[in-house]
Amino acid sequence: MKSFRKILWFETSNRRQLINITSLVEECVKNSEIKEGLCLVNAMHITASVFINDDETGLHHDFEEWLEKLAPEKPHDRYRHNTYEDNGDAHLKRTIMGREVVVAITEGKLDFGPWEQIFYGEFDGKRRKKVLVKIIGE
Ligand code: ZN
Repeated sequence: MKSFRKILWFETSNRRQLINITSLVEECVKNSEIKEGLCLVNAMHITASVFINDDETGLHHDFEEWLEKLAPEKPHDRYRHNTYEDNGDAHLKRTIMGREVVVAITEGKLDFGPWEQIFYGEFDGKRRKKVLVKIIGE
């Protein structure tokens, strides 16, 4: 069995931002030379997510509104977590949007359903954060 590991780094200019990382993950699959296997992609921070959905701006706006309704950023003092920090909302948003995705690799390619794309979801940005890509197979 072969295995491949790579860290992808992100530093968003906004506190919250969604980034399509599909092409970066595809490049990892190509470099791994694995034809049949599994590809795990996970955020390595508890205020960021990796998830799969459609790359459609209306939907991304809907995610922002939905998450802000569920866990508004402000007022910061609404969260017990925000004693020394102001990112209580980001922890909750990350939990809802998920930590990781696993995608099958078939014939050397990510085996997606229709319109599936991989996103990095940043909820407490403006600093360097990382995503792990781990691929196993043959
Ligand atoms: Zn925190």
